Amino acid sequence: MEKFDVVIIGSGPGGYVAAIRAGQLGLKTAIVEKDKELGGTCLNIGCIPSKALLTSSDHFSFAQKEAGKHGIVIDQVTVDLNKMLQRKDKVVKTLTGGVRALMKTNKVTTLEGIGTITAPGKVSVKSSKGETQEVEAKHIIIATGSVPMELPFAKFDGQTIVSSTEALSFTEAPARLLVIGAGAIGLELGSVWSRLGSEVTVLEFLPRIALGFDLELANLLQRALTGQGMTFHLETKVSALKIENGHATATASKGGEELTFEADKVLVSVGRRPFSEGVGADKIGVEFDEKKRIKVDAHYRTNVEGVYAIGDVIAGPMLAHKAEEEGIACIETIAGKSGHVNYNVIPGIIYTNPELAGVGLTEDQAKEQGIEVRIGKFPFRANGRALANEDAEGMVKFVAEAKTDRILGAHILQHAASELIAEAASVMEFGGSSEDLGRTCHSHPTLSEAVKEAALAVEKRALHIVNR
Ligand code: FAD
Repeated sequence: MEKFDVVIIGSGPGGYVAAIRAGQLGLKTAIVEKDKELGGTCLNIGCIPSKALLTSSDHFSFAQKEAGKHGIVIDQVTVDLNKMLQRKDKVVKTLTGGVRALMKTNKVTTLEGIGTITAPGKVSVKSSKGETQEVEAKHIIIATGSVPMELPFAKFDGQTIVSSTEALSFTEAPARLLVIGAGAIGLELGSVWSRLGSEVTVLEFLPRIALGFDLELANLLQRALTGQGMTFHLETKVSALKIENGHATATASKGGEELTFEADKVLVSVGRRPFSEGVGADKIGVEFDEKKRIKVDAHYRTNVEGVYAIGDVIAGPMLAHKAEEEGIACIETIAGKSGHVNYNVIPGIIYTNPELAGVGLTEDQAKEQGIEVRIGKFPFRANGRALANEDAEGMVKFVAEAKTDRILGAHILQHAASELIAEAASVMEFGGSSEDLGRTCHSHPTLSEAVKEAALAVEKRALHIVNR
């Protein structure tokens, strides 16, 4: 039986990044993956394919609606959806192939099959051909991720009631797409198909979209998406979904009123649940919390000696970069270093147009925690580069602790918010203040100047707006 220092079950961003770090630190490592390709949800059916389609459909939308503003005349713009999907698949293939190559260069053994912990220190791997291999490991990391959550009355059928996986590969834009759930996945994939011609209706149980993000910016995003043609019904609870001849009728209630919605496809994007079926954690006595997430301590150790868990299968935001950081911290702990993740500085992004990005506390969260804060805001319509780009929607907003000026949160609505938020995250990681950021020289003309200006606005000294 081959012996390893570390065996990682699951090759998503948590698992494969942990494997790379383990390889770098000279640990004899194996990674077990049940799917054909490495990379997990993120690379195969999540972050990457969704962003590929978001970019392609954004270009289409630009050619249709925005190019004219720049004096670019395009007579007829059409979509070759097949080619768009092929490009997406090619991007995925390049990246999953890249992960396989990274496993080799870091001397990580890849084991294909379902990994099951049969006892502490022992993993059996059952391949798709039915062959079973046993390996021994000093340390086992469970990185088995998550899967889409179903509605109890609307099981996925893969045709009419679908999850994000199918919504990444529709072979034609559905005439009417109903999206249940206005979180990141629903808004992103709703945007894709809206841009490609679907009539998109979003139903959300809560009185707002984009829960967890700054409310003011989320409301602005909803307004922008409504302007792009998407329809929103908030405080709307779906209670039934009926399928007839491949079409769906959803019944919902809103303020005591019963509503019905007709659709050709229904994307259920109400969240994801941790996935640990088949890994055998329960059989060896690993403890789970009330949401069926594996319980770990600050060093990702479960209650069973030598068994760890990271990523979507444990508590915290279900995000690829969070899983990656946990993978690194977990391996560094195993290697006797001090692995650590700063959960106060994990950015979250919705990649619509404009994008909505946030890191740290929102104004409301700070208030709920009784922290006195000062707010600095700067709109992109006062930023030269945004105007030159004809892309001046949105704003930057900082939440700084009143007493110390330390930045507690940053929130950005802009086409490039996903890139701009990184600066705020870096400053926050070093415990920086709004003054630190406001006094940093930023290149001109750039969108990042709006980040600097919003930081200056905390002390009411922004330069290109009237400070109030
Ligand atoms: P996963 O990526 O889910 O990987 C788990 C792996 O374990 C899978 O490959 C699975 O096959 C394997 N596995 C499970 N059980 C076993 C077993 N017993 N044996 C062997 N293998 C097993 N996050 C972001 O940060 N940014 C985004 O833009 C973003 N966009 C998303 C868009 C969509 C449509 C979706 C669905 C998700 C998106 N996410 C995004 C979330 C992100 O994909 C997840 O947070 C991330 O993939 C979690 O990583 P993980 O390593 O914990 O698990």
